[in-house]
Amino acid sequence: EADAEYLVSLVRSVPGFPNENVLFRDFMPVLADARGFQIMMKALELALPVPISEFDYVAGLEARGFLIGPTLAYNLGKGFVAVRKAGKLPPETIGKSYDLEYGQARVEIEQGTVKPGDRVLIVDDLIATSGTAQAAADLIEQAGGKVVGFSFVMELIGLNGRGSLGQVPCSSLITMH
Ligand code: IMP
Repeated sequence: EADAEYLVSLVRSVPGFPNENVLFRDFMPVLADARGFQIMMKALELALPVPISEFDYVAGLEARGFLIGPTLAYNLGKGFVAVRKAGKLPPETIGKSYDLEYGQARVEIEQGTVKPGDRVLIVDDLIATSGTAQAAADLIEQAGGKVVGFSFVMELIGLNGRGSLGQVPCSSLITMH
């Protein structure tokens, strides 16, 4: 209702960034707005894809997942795991490479942060193709963890990102094309 509309109104759409033919959805104005930030964080809590008792950690994806992930983890009384882009973390790390539209990328976590049996909720600002979220999930599973859900602020529909995540529950606050 009013809150949902207010949240949507704060998302800035930027045509042609980071390159031609991309309509970039920018949620920084949400964070900059005191009321918007609270609405977003409360909505993420209310829309958790699984009950709060079913995960131990919130994992956030660099870089915008580092803004909402720790905030959500703190509010829920969970630990936070940083899933970083390659080369930023001191050794020992474990990583997972994945394909982008052009080229490859790699995500890493510090060895030992996720232990066998740990249950993890993955969060990010936006899901498009799901390639990034899937790579993070593969990495957490590689460490022996279990990915129990995904939470996104924005979801681009039409790319079937959600479909590629398989059976793992996924929630998003705002869907857009
Ligand atoms: P995917 O891997 O195709 O699902 O793309 C999602 C990743 O790219 C996330 O880490 C997003 O932060 C980033 N991303 C892709 N498109 C946008 C956008 O329009 N706005 C903000 N982030 C985006």
